[in-house]
Amino acid sequence: MLEINDLSISFSSYSFGLRKTETCAIRSLDLTITPGQIMAVVGQSGGGKSLLAHALLGILPRNARVTGGMLFKGEPLTIKRQAALRGRQIALIPQSMTYLNPLVRVGNQVAQAARLGGVPGRESKGAVSRAFTRYRLNQKVISCFPFQLSGGMARRVLTATATVGGAELILADEPTSGLDPASSGETLAHLRELADSGKAVLLITHDIEAALKVADSLTVFCGGVTLEVAAAGDFSSHGVLRHPYTRALWGALPGNDFVGAVPAAMTIAKNGGCPFSCDCPKSDTVCNDMMPELKRLYNGLVRCHYA
Ligand code: SF4
Repeated sequence: MLEINDLSISFSSYSFGLRKTETCAIRSLDLTITPGQIMAVVGQSGGGKSLLAHALLGILPRNARVTGGMLFKGEPLTIKRQAALRGRQIALIPQSMTYLNPLVRVGNQVAQAARLGGVPGRESKGAVSRAFTRYRLNQKVISCFPFQLSGGMARRVLTATATVGGAELILADEPTSGLDPASSGETLAHLRELADSGKAVLLITHDIEAALKVADSLTVFCGGVTLEVAAAGDFSSHGVLRHPYTRALWGALPGNDFVGAVPAAMTIAKNGGCPFSCDCPKSDTVCNDMMPELKRLYNGLVRCHYA
């Protein structure tokens, strides 16, 4: 369904003296999702994960520069194609409630998304009603404005908006952020249900525990690069994790007795070396100076010189 090859995103800006500078936010990202699969992109907050969703939808700011390949159903995602697919075949469950228009009743917003997805106008009312039932929203909520909703309800409305048009690729950006455990579990179950019905789901999150509850595979993202791609089953006492950063992340979870410290937030190394080189016990001058290639190992991918 979706294939991303060597994707890099950078932003140009002007600093003192009108000198143009380029800041790289994502570098060399590779990712594949098939129908029926949830691929979680896991990494630190503020590490640029959301930019991936925006790049796929073609809604990055104008000073962004995107290189690399993005294929949807085998065809390149050009700007024209992104505009045609956005909200129809590729839909976003956004992180922020501000995506809801505060002046429009939520039922009308979901109906608008249904029509955009190809539901005929006369059938949109029924589609909205079914979407509200599916996401356990009272039918009375259809006539509410966004400010009248709780955080959990607003998130369910956003999920209804993204899915009502029958999109085949769902981009869920931090969908459990700020939710209590029950609402979070419910949101994750909805994503699993979408995947089980044949959709492809890209789950972008900082919460590795949440991702492991529903994802089939995880892409571990750090300092703007993919460090590892692993099956969810690799994150277990019997599994094989290939990268020291992933092992540190996994070991720092409460269920794993907090073995090791949570790896510090990292940015792309200016010298182009491995983004984990400052904290990695195996780091040497090669690691500091040269970005490792992403290579195949035990049915997964890893970016480490010594894996
Ligand atoms: S490339 Fe070097 S610094 Fe990076 S994870 Fe591997 S051993 Fe550690």
